Amino acid sequence: MTSIQLETPSTGKYTQPTGLFINNEWVKGVDGKSLETINPSTEQVICSVAEATEKDVDIAVAAARKAFDGEWRKVTPESRGKMLVKLGDLIDENLETLAAVEALDNGKSLGMAKGDVAAVAACLRYYGGWADKIEGKVIDTNPETFTYTRPEPIGVCAQIIPWNFPLLMWAWKIGPAVATGNTVVLKTAEQTPLSALVAADLIKKAGFPPGVINIISGFGKVAGAALSSHMDVDKIAFTGSTVVGRQIMKAAAGSNLKKVTLELGGKSPNIVFDDADIENAISWVNFGIFFNHGQCCCAGSRVYVQSGIYDKFVERFKVRALANKVGDPFTADTFQGPQVSQLQFDRIMGYIDEGKKAGATVVTGGERHGDKGYFIQPTIFSDVKEDMKIMQEEIFGPVCSIAKFETEEEIIKTGNSTIYGLAAAVHTSNLNTALRVANSLRAGTVWINSYNMLHHQIPFGGFKQSGIGRELGEAALANYTQNKSVSIRLGDALFG
Ligand code: ADP
Repeated sequence: MTSIQLETPSTGKYTQPTGLFINNEWVKGVDGKSLETINPSTEQVICSVAEATEKDVDIAVAAARKAFDGEWRKVTPESRGKMLVKLGDLIDENLETLAAVEALDNGKSLGMAKGDVAAVAACLRYYGGWADKIEGKVIDTNPETFTYTRPEPIGVCAQIIPWNFPLLMWAWKIGPAVATGNTVVLKTAEQTPLSALVAADLIKKAGFPPGVINIISGFGKVAGAALSSHMDVDKIAFTGSTVVGRQIMKAAAGSNLKKVTLELGGKSPNIVFDDADIENAISWVNFGIFFNHGQCCCAGSRVYVQSGIYDKFVERFKVRALANKVGDPFTADTFQGPQVSQLQFDRIMGYIDEGKKAGATVVTGGERHGDKGYFIQPTIFSDVKEDMKIMQEEIFGPVCSIAKFETEEEIIKTGNSTIYGLAAAVHTSNLNTALRVANSLRAGTVWINSYNMLHHQIPFGGFKQSGIGRELGEAALANYTQNKSVSIRLGDALFG
C-alpha cells in the first residue's frame, strides 16, 4: 500500500500518499521499513510512511541520474519553466488540503500554513520564470579568439530539508534546481513527511518526466547520511542545524567532493533604539521571535533595547506576548501551535531552566502550556547577560532574551558577537542610524523597522557559521549552475 485515507479537521477526508516518490511512481522501500509521524498537538501517531534506507537512496539517485543524462536534457528551458509554473498552479489549486496537512503534521496554525502554501506556489512560479533566462557571456580576449561561457546544470542534486517549513523548504530547494536543468532527490525531515508527499503527487501532473524530482521520507542518520556521502550525487543542499551542516560537509569532503550549500542556524539580534516607534517595534519583535513558535532559523531571539526605553519596552512587550493565542492549530485565532516534537519540547524547556538558573528575569511564560501536546508559553527573559547560554545558543522555540544597551558602537559589537550571521534587525526613526548599523552587522539579511520579511525574490542565507550560499532570488541560481568556458580559435596561424 502506498497511500491511505486520512482526515483533517478543516478539509475532511483526503488521500495521503505514504510511499517513496521515485521515477514518478509511488513505491515501497526495499527493506519494507516505515516511520511514524506524530501530531504534535495531541502526541498521537497520525500514520506511518515508507522509510528510505541506503538501498532506496541508491535507486532514487540512479533514477535522477538516468533522467539527467537522458530525457531531461532534451527538454527546453521554456518547457522546464512551464512545468514549474504548472506545479505552482497545482499547489494553489490544492492549497486548502496542503495547508491542513501541514498544520496537522507540523503544528503550525492553519492560517500560517495557508500563507506558506501560497508562498510555495509563488516561489515555484518565480523560478519557472527564470528557467529560460539562464544566460552566459561572450568574452573578448583578442581578435583571434571567440570565447563564450555557458552556465550548465550541476547534475544530480540531493536536497535535505527541515521540519519547520516543510513545504516552503521543498519549494525553495526544488525551484532553482529544476529551473536550471538539474535533477533532484529530496529528503524531507522525519518529523514532517506528509505535506511533501501530497505535493509530490502533483509533480507528474505538472508534466515532469520520470526521475527529475524524487521525494523520499527517511531519517537523517540513514537516508540523509547516504545522500551526503553518495558517490553519484553531484551536489548537496541542506537546511537545518549547524551541527548537521558540519557533518554533511565532512561527508561531502570524504566522498566525491560534491558541491555543498548550507542554510544553517542563527541567533539573530533585533536592535531597538530609543527613537524607534515603540509600538511598531514591539509588534515586529513579537513577530520576529514568536512567529512559527520560534522555530525559524532567522528568529530574532536576541533583543537589545536602548536604555532610554528599556523598562517601558519590556513592560509593553509582555502585554503583547500575552496576547499571542496559543492553542489548537485549527482554531481560527491561534497564533502559536505546539512545538514539533517531544525532543524539541524538551530541548526548549531545558534552555528555559538554564535561563532561570543563570539568573535571568522571567518577564512572562517559562512553563509548558496545557497538559497535552508540545505547547510552550511564549517566554521572555529580561536582563540577560551576554555569556548566558540563552543569549548565545540557538533555542529554536518561543523564548526571547532581552538585554539593555547604551551606544551604537557597543551594540554593533554585541550584535556581531555570536558564531552566527543569518539575520538581524534595527528599529529606529533615524535613517542614518539604520543604515550605519545595517551596514556594520555581519548578517546575510538585515531588516529595518520590520522582521521576517522573507520573499522569494530576495536572496537569503548566512554569514559566518550560518551557512554557505544563498537561497531565493537570482542568487540561488548560482548554487545550481557551473560555468563552462568555451574558447574557439579563429585565426589560422599555426600554434607555436
Ligand atoms: P533539527 O535539529 O532541527 O531536527 P537537523 O539539522 O537535525 O534539525 O535536521 C534537518 C534535516 O537534516 C532533517 O531532514 C534530518 O533528517 C537531516 N539530518 C539529520 N542528521 C543528518 C545527517 N547526519 N546527515 C544528513 N542529514 C541529516
